[in-house]
Amino acid sequence: MTKYNIALIPGDGIGPELMSSAKMLLESINDKTSVKFSLTEVDAGDNALSKFGKALPDFTLDAIKKSDACLKAPVGESAADVIIVLRRLFDLYANIRPAKSFPNIKSISENVDLVTVRENTEDVYLGWEFYANSDTVVALRVISEKASRRIAEYAFKTAVMRGEKKKVVSVHKANVLRKSDGLFKNICRDVSTEFPQIEYSELYVDACAMNLIRNPESFDVIVTTNLFGDILSDEAAQVVGGLGMGPAGNIGENFSLFEPVHGAAFDIAGKNIANPCSIFLSTKMMLDWLGEKFKDPLLFTEAIKIENAIVSLLKQNYKTIDIGGKLSTSEFTRMLLDIW
Ligand code: ATP
Repeated sequence: MTKYNIALIPGDGIGPELMSSAKMLLESINDKTSVKFSLTEVDAGDNALSKFGKALPDFTLDAIKKSDACLKAPVGESAADVIIVLRRLFDLYANIRPAKSFPNIKSISENVDLVTVRENTEDVYLGWEFYANSDTVVALRVISEKASRRIAEYAFKTAVMRGEKKKVVSVHKANVLRKSDGLFKNICRDVSTEFPQIEYSELYVDACAMNLIRNPESFDVIVTTNLFGDILSDEAAQVVGGLGMGPAGNIGENFSLFEPVHGAAFDIAGKNIANPCSIFLSTKMMLDWLGEKFKDPLLFTEAIKIENAIVSLLKQNYKTIDIGGKLSTSEFTRMLLDIW
């Protein structure tokens, strides 16, 4: 029987509370089903920086390299030195952020089911900024044909596998960023010809931001560049009820890392009130990805069970405070684990 090696990064702020919930979930699955995990907890983030002088210590990198997948809770001020480095080191080129309506959560629409497919390796996130003179900074935006094609293909394949809508919209600002987003848009258009079964359209990023509020249920797959994807996916998370429900996957060819969309939320850290659904749904995405990679149907069963368990609790109005409920992080976690 395969045992899956999972590296866990508890991170900072609400991170350790969320990771404690996710770890209990993985341990429950390990104890009560035929799916087996070997869990290795490793330091990264602000805590690691103050303890070891490095936000991403070498032993953490070694543990991640030995794992089949990584589940990461949010890190604080040192986020750029952790997640952006990991994305580059492991070539995690696709950032996948689903935004889905859940029952009994106040939101703009009740029928949203979309996914943002964000290019994860270039754009201004390369951090190539420099002073042109003493009072002016220039930031370089890098968009390549190779990365654009790879993310566009991922987006169309995602649309093929998802439900009935079968739509991809490429989001850009090619009227202003004529060369960089012009290239991105043209590549998406080119890739669309290989997928005639998918309805393809294009939207300026400002129009997309507006339509996500006005008509969110019309979206299926949004494919976009790194910075626009970061912003639009937070907006989409809010449209379906808040960051506490938002999972994300950083997908590479051979390795992937899963994490909540939100940050370390220091304002609510240590209070036992953070919503653990973001990390539970990230765990679900991780099991789906492992299931696909290792062709193990048992992982799909556990993945869908996580989502169904959350839906079942929400239907009974069992919720954390951020989404209008009364439960603490640990109370919600306990109720979820009781379902296994
Ligand atoms: P970053 O820039 O690192 O993404 P941020 O400053 O945008 O971080 P977040 O930490 O993402 O802020 O969170 C914004 C607010 O959303 C927090 O202040 C918190 O109140 C709320 N929030 C985020 N995640 C959760 C969660 N899991 N449960 C409850 N509330 C949350």
